[in-house]
This record gives sequence, structure tokens and C-alpha cells, in this order.
Amino acid sequence: MAVVGVLALQGSYNEHMSALRRIGVKGVEVRKPEQLQGLDSLIIPGGESTTMAKLANYHNLFPALREFVGAGKPVWGTCAGLIFLANKAVGQKLGGQELVGGLDCTVHRNFFGSQLQSFETELSVPMLADKEGGSNTCRGVFIRAPAILEVGSDVEILAECPVPSGRPSITIPSAEGVEEEVYSKDRVIVAVRQGSILATAFHPELTSDCRWHRFFLDMDKESHPKAFSALSLSSSS
Ligand code: GLN
Repeated sequence: MAVVGVLALQGSYNEHMSALRRIGVKGVEVRKPEQLQGLDSLIIPGGESTTMAKLANYHNLFPALREFVGAGKPVWGTCAGLIFLANKAVGQKLGGQELVGGLDCTVHRNFFGSQLQSFETELSVPMLADKEGGSNTCRGVFIRAPAILEVGSDVEILAECPVPSGRPSITIPSAEGVEEEVYSKDRVIVAVRQGSILATAFHPELTSDCRWHRFFLDMDKESHPKAFSALSLSSSS
């Protein structure tokens, strides 16, 4: 059976573990580098990316996480996990934080604002249409959420979200040190895939909809067909 790791330093790792259980998959909590060995894939949950980075540093996890991503094993980052996987993050105070990287994009850490601007919305996600019942929408739960400002040519955009009208403007210093608004479009990217990397700015693990977890497992199956020979995905969500 496939073994899916869930980075369990901080944030919504319990909810990911529950979602995996609901679809009959074994999740393993990961807190130390050696616990990544033998895993087929990894989920990096949402939470608070600065705190998560501090804990990852404390446990010396960054080199092993980079190796895992570099080996092409499927990795899914949700929210703070997306920030972790981005090659570049903006909107960070105090010089920012260490990133795992691998995902060719620029992410804004708090694109949608603070806790008070957290929101839920229905997202159009065409690639979900062929999963369980054919609906091509899903509930997007955005909590102090990041968003993706730009992507490289190898990155497939899976979902975009209308930019809420009340969103606080986001500025970052330009090369000249002047604070400039960095986003003026009316939609923003909130889910992407680049080969073995999946990233969502929202939290599917906080809903009862397991289609994102199943999609991730399908990516895992593509890269480790043998590990899934004993896996049944017939259990209900
Ligand atoms: N914006 C948060 C951060 O910087 C992420 C929020 C989340 O994961 N729900 O870490």
C-alpha cells in the first residue's frame, strides 16, 4: 500500500491525516528528516509558514525536504505548504523565511489579507469534473491565504479565484525601495500543478470533499504504480 507522509510540525496536519483515512490511505506524520525515507509522497499542510520554517530548521528538515522534491516524488502544499514550495515568496516582513522551493512561481504570503479577510467561495476547477459525480466546482476555504502572482511556463494553472473587492492592497518595495502595488488583475491563481508538485492556496482538508486528496493520490500512482497495486480507492469520502 502507498504511504503518504504529512509534515506534522504545525498547522492542519491532523485534518489531512483524517482526509487520507477517509479514502482508505495510510498517512504517516513526519517531524524528522529520517521519517521521509520510504514515503511515496508528502503533504505539506497549511498553518503559519514562518513558524513552520523555524520548526523545520530546528529539526534540520530543509535539506531532506529539498531532496524529496528534487527526486520527483509527489508533494502537495496547501496554503502555508504552497508558500514552502514556491521558488519565490513576497509580502514577507523581517527578511522572510527559508523556503523548500521547486515550484516555479512567485507567491504572495498574505495576498487576501489577514484573519479578518478569511473567506469561503465556490471555485471552478475543470480538472475535477471527471472525478466522482462530475462537478467541476469545489468549496475553497481561504484562511489568511496566499495567492500565486506569476508562474513559469511548466506550471499548469488548475484554479483561479476572483479577487475580493475589499482586499487590502498589497505592496512590496521595488528595486528603488519604493512601495508599489504588485497586483491589479481581477483574478488570481490559487491552484497549480508542476509535474509532481501540486499546490493550493486554500484548504481542501477542511471540507468533506476528498477529490483533491484523490487527485493527489492519482499523481502518486502515476509515479509509483507498484505501490498502489493493493490500494482500493472505492471507499466513500
Ligand atoms: N499566510 C499564512 C502564512 O504566511 C498561511 C496561512 C495558512 O496556511 N492558512 O504562513
